[in-house]
Amino acid sequence: MKYKRIVLKLSGEALMGSKNSNIDPAVLEQYTAEIKEIRDSGVQVAIVIGGGNIFRGGQAETLGIDRVQGDYMGMLATVINAMALQSALERHGLYTRLMAGIKMEQVCEPFIRRRAIRHLEKGRIVIFGAGIGNPYFTTDSTASLRAIEIQADVVLKGTRVDGVYTKDPEKYTDAVRYTSLSFQEAYEKNLNIMDMTAFTLCQENKLPIIVFDMNRKGNLMRVVKGEEAGTLIS
Ligand code: UDP
Repeated sequence: MKYKRIVLKLSGEALMGSKNSNIDPAVLEQYTAEIKEIRDSGVQVAIVIGGGNIFRGGQAETLGIDRVQGDYMGMLATVINAMALQSALERHGLYTRLMAGIKMEQVCEPFIRRRAIRHLEKGRIVIFGAGIGNPYFTTDSTASLRAIEIQADVVLKGTRVDGVYTKDPEKYTDAVRYTSLSFQEAYEKNLNIMDMTAFTLCQENKLPIIVFDMNRKGNLMRVVKGEEAGTLIS
């Protein structure tokens, strides 16, 4: 395995799959299978999951809700997704811990860095819920920050496209995928990899990011092995 300790960032929106509901059980099952495969081969796995399928802070104002309040609602949304994922992982016999950036004693542990690392060393999958616990941040920033804190080798950003393209591949047929990029190139070309906060945190701390297609079977394993799948930003 090329990467021994990873932070996997999953978007909340992806959980919707083809269903009209917030969470598609088929997506949960597929993610669980992929995650189990890498965990069973000894990789230490931490996960950050978004909340976009339920609520995004950015929506708040159009609903007459205060922005900060909306951000907290978004953070709570991530906890709902994290709990769903935790349950799916446990159903497959994996050991997990949910650690949150907001105190929620009945369902999550508080995030304590040393404890998170200890869980990983013991083979437990750690899910980071409720983001950083502060408004005006995103789950991408959470993934970057937590990855740095727990000294992960890489942030794996699972999306529905198989990497970073010269332009939007869902709109342009002549878009070309990058296999690797430097942080500087990605910045200069204004490629939307993560929000600026998340991106800068990785760049300043020399933490590589891999953007890959989480919906393709076996892809997570390929990425963790260091095989070419997706785009590596380093
Ligand atoms: N959020 C926040 N602080 C954090 C993490 C998340 O305020 O540290 C809020 C923010 O409003 C965001 C929402 O939670 O819009 C859901 O997360 P995100 O949009 O990152 O989810 P994704 O797009 O990955 O599904």
